[in-house]
Amino acid sequence: MSDSLAVVGAGAAGAAAAYRLRDADRDATVFEKSRGVTGRAATRRRNGCRYDHGANYVTPGDGPVADLVRDLGDDGRHDIAEPVWMFDGAGTVAPGRDSGEPKWTWAAGITQLGKRLLARTDATVRRETRVRSLARTADGGWALTDADGETYGPFGDVLLTPPAPQTADLLAATDWDDERLAAARDAAAAVPYRSVVTAVLHYPFELDREWYALVNTDDDHDVGWLARESCKPGHVPDGESLLVVQMAPDWSATHYDDPDGDQVAAAADRVAALLDDDRLLDPDWTDTQGWRYALPDAAAEREPLSAVADAGLHFAGDWVAGEGRVHAAVESGLDAADRIR
Ligand SMILES: Cc1cc2nc3c(=O)[nH]c(=O)nc-3n(C[C@H](O)[C@H](O)[C@H](O)COP(=O)(O)OP(=O)(O)OC[C@H]3O[C@@H](n4cnc5c(N)ncnc54)[C@H](O)[C@@H]3O)c2cc1C
Repeated sequence: MSDSLAVVGAGAAGAAAAYRLRDADRDATVFEKSRGVTGRAATRRRNGCRYDHGANYVTPGDGPVADLVRDLGDDGRHDIAEPVWMFDGAGTVAPGRDSGEPKWTWAAGITQLGKRLLARTDATVRRETRVRSLARTADGGWALTDADGETYGPFGDVLLTPPAPQTADLLAATDWDDERLAAARDAAAAVPYRSVVTAVLHYPFELDREWYALVNTDDDHDVGWLARESCKPGHVPDGESLLVVQMAPDWSATHYDDPDGDQVAAAADRVAALLDDDRLLDPDWTDTQGWRYALPDAAAEREPLSAVADAGLHFAGDWVAGEGRVHAAVESGLDAADRIR
């Protein structure tokens, strides 16, 4: 049986798994459908600004992530100094809710996490390669076929890290005559998700506040999260400000397919009212991103997923950990790598 390994997805979980197996002599190939890596921990550059429009920062959690992040080097990494405050449905802003743990970010953007992990491996990273199906091979391995019909493998082990609904789709497109397959697919398909619409609002003036971000605490506001990207060194030039606004899950579900202009107008309207500043009604440029599978609301049932491990099929990601956080995805990737090893 081949010792080669396929990792589907170069998000935090997939990159961490490849990193953990870097010394295992496993001939790893990472398949990533996008051009960039680190998945929902995503960064864009525009008009001299850099902004993290998915995950905002990485927290260490209480596992191995702190050591791992430090192993990746201090250069360009910052702990956001300003605190996270909170607000309620009535628009009252108040201090609090900052745990005091580090909020790590990188001057070059949060994608540095995945880039640095993968740079320390010998894995082949196939970007812009969307895996569409899997098939069991005669020798008990796995072949992967991409969206262009190209086939790769055989691989002795496959680690699937896309969000649970996309993993369920892959399992539905898997050619393997084994009753455990349907149970694993059902376990992935059952994970509930929240969608989030992110609106990015840029202004040609500085916005000074005591906080880095505001989080809504009573689920009674159209905005769920609002962050000042200028608190991240290297992201926003002096004299400008850029707000990353994550609309609340209810609002996002209702308005997910609205035109971009309507989404940013709603975000600017709510933010101007919340911060009591009419200048914020009129950003000079904007951006949006819809995250259909933003945050898993529960963990997948474990047993059906682990039941296929002896056939070389493995799973990792925030939905396996049951927590929509970068550190949880990283830990899940490290755990999967240890099991594969
Ligand atoms: C708006 C938003 C804000 C957030 N804020 C924070 C935060 O501040 N702090 C925090 O810790 N967490 C935050 N999170 C959660 C965090 O981003 C995720 O928990 C974490 O990034 C998940 O990592 P993952 O590797 O499990 O999945 P993903 O990042 O989704 O990675 C999966 C990868 O698989 C790829 N893929 C999917 N299908 C295929 C296919 N068929 N073939 C090849 N590749 C495929 C995807 O392109 C992606 O790169 C936020 C998430 C969102 C959406």
